[in-house]
Parts: sequence; C-alpha cells; structure tokens
Amino acid sequence: MNHFIDIEGVRKRYGGREVLSLDQLSIERGRIVAVTGANGAGKTTFIKLLALLDYPSAGSVQVNGIDVSIASPARSRLRKHVTMVSQNPYMFRASVDENVAFGLRTRGVRGNAQRRRVSEALQTVGLHGLEKQPARSLSMGQVQRVAIARALVIKPMLLLLDEPIAGVDQAHVSYVERAIRWIRDKEGTTVILATHNIDLGIGLAEDVISLVNGRVSDIPLRNHFSGIVVDRRGEKVVALIPGVKVSVVTQKTGKVYFAVDPGDIIVSLTPLESSARNVFEGTIVGLNCAESQARVTIDTGIKLDAIVTLKSLEEMKLRLGMRVFAVFKTSSVKVF
Ligand code: ATP
Repeated sequence: MNHFIDIEGVRKRYGGREVLSLDQLSIERGRIVAVTGANGAGKTTFIKLLALLDYPSAGSVQVNGIDVSIASPARSRLRKHVTMVSQNPYMFRASVDENVAFGLRTRGVRGNAQRRRVSEALQTVGLHGLEKQPARSLSMGQVQRVAIARALVIKPMLLLLDEPIAGVDQAHVSYVERAIRWIRDKEGTTVILATHNIDLGIGLAEDVISLVNGRVSDIPLRNHFSGIVVDRRGEKVVALIPGVKVSVVTQKTGKVYFAVDPGDIIVSLTPLESSARNVFEGTIVGLNCAESQARVTIDTGIKLDAIVTLKSLEEMKLRLGMRVFAVFKTSSVKVF
C-alpha cells in the first residue's frame, strides 16, 4: 500500500455478470498510464471507478490514501480533484470558452484568473481563436479537445480520459498528447487513458495496463485477432479470411481470441525452411524505426507487426511496398 492508487480484489458486476476482476494493482503518482484492450475489455468500467463515478461490487480502491470504494465525506471532497473526459463529451449550449470555464466557475475561480486559465488550456489543445464559437457547432474531434481543455483548467490530481483521440484526426493527435504531458509536467497530475489505439498507449504512456475480459493480461499488445478454431487433419487452425489460416495450439473450441508478439515474428525474404507452421507472404505497408529496432507492418491479408533489428532492416534492405514473408511458430500464438 501507499501508492497514489491501490486496488485490491476489485470486482465489478452488472446484473450478475462479472466484467472487471483486478486482484492487485497499483499506480504511482504523476504517471501517464494507458489502459488498453479490445471493445468490451472493461476499460471504461475501470476508469469510471477511478473517476469516482461508480463503486466496485467488491474489493477496495484507494486514491490518494482515501478509500473510494464506499461513499464518504472524504471521497466527496476528493471528487473536486478528479475528473474524467468521456468518449462522447457533453457540450453546454454556450461558447467554447464558457464550456471550458465550467469547472472553474463551480470552484469559484472568476475574472482574470479564469480567463487566463481558459486561454492557456485552449492554447494547449490547439483551439485558441475558437473561444467565442458555439461549442455545439464544433466537429467531434474539436469537441474532444474542448472537453480535454475543460478538464485541464481545474488542474486535477487525477485525470481520466476515455478514448481521448477517438474522432481526433491525425494532424491534431499531437495536441492531445501535448496536453496530457503538459498537465502531468506542470501539475504532477496522474493521467490514466483508456485507449484501444496501441500507438497512443505505447507512444505516450509510461505504464501500460492491458485488459482482456476484465482482467490484467500479459498478452502481447499487438497482432490481436479472433476467429473460430477448427481441427484440420489433427492440427488446430483459425481461418481469419480466405487464404489466411493461423496454426495454433489450444484445447479451446469455438470462438477464440489470439495474439502474436511482434518480437516472435521473423521477417524473411524467402519462405524460410523451418518448423514454423505459420508462413505468410505479404507487402510491407509500414516501417517505424526507433533507436535500435524497427516495427515492420506486413499486409498478408491480415496486418502483422513484426520487430526487426536495424541491422536486419539494412541487411534485407526492407522498404515500403516490398514483398516479404512473415514467419512465426504455432507456439508463439497466445490463445485466450
Ligand atoms: P469499449 O472499447 O467498447 O469502450 P471497454 O473496454 O471500455 O469497451 P466497458 O465499457 O468497460 O468496456 O464494458 C465492459 C463490459 O461491461 C461490456 O461487456 C459491457 O457490455 C458491460 N457493461 C458496461 N457498462 C454496463 C452497464 N451499465 N450495464 C451492464 N453492462 C455494462
């Protein structure tokens, strides 16, 4: 115990169905944390508990030393310092700056101080100049950024964001990233963002919590697929699309989810002679280089991300549009 957030034995049930099950989890103050997972994995349920918008069915959640799993005056006081930006933010029938100032008005911040903070927040999300525009006339991506500005102005201790870049076009994603870093660096805010965009999670977050069916998972964050397991001459395969069948090892039947760690995929110029059962030819459609390695996205009918060293990248002269093979072992496919 004694972290900014401590979670013990938390369960959340809706109508008897358990959608969240977190045995032990802690988050340090001032971290940027991404909660990733597929649709329905429990991301929103999780961050709503932390946003003090809901209670767990069982277990304990402590935020800043306060038990928030039950109603209490301390929990009510903490609510002033915690805010959540939801997936479809509500805009009041008012101008952009009035929407952003909302939390400040309710906290008694008025006049110049209010104007300064609103202007600073709008600047951070790249919406300065739109102060007087009716908020309801904005695009979905702009609304998302107004909602983020509205959260920033109150300088929260804990900021929760549900899919903060849904609807924000690529050109403006950097404003959202900048806003998140800004509030953390300036105010020491702990930021937790739910996202199924792994790139945002990996690029921005210092910690990633991956949820699968409401539980924390160590399943790889990329190359997630689902399909029906069929038995083909004693071998289990999942047919994803015509022509793409992935060999798996599993006792499961019917619909399964599976994932392949990008580090377990070999990129080759020839269909490697090896025991690996999964060999797919495809075209390189993405190349992202980091310091010592690169992520190669290969479109084989399904898109597969593989990690290669910069040395291999050079040796194979990998480039966009090139035809290559993606090869991985059956045992590298994690079925869940
Ligand atoms: P998405 O990426 O689609 O937003 P998510 O990971 O945020 O998904 P949640 O919204 O937390 O997932 O939902 C987790 C599960 O809980 C889903 O099966 C959902 O149907 C269920 N659920 C969420 N809220 C409720 C509710 N109020 N009543 C009943 N079931 C709910």
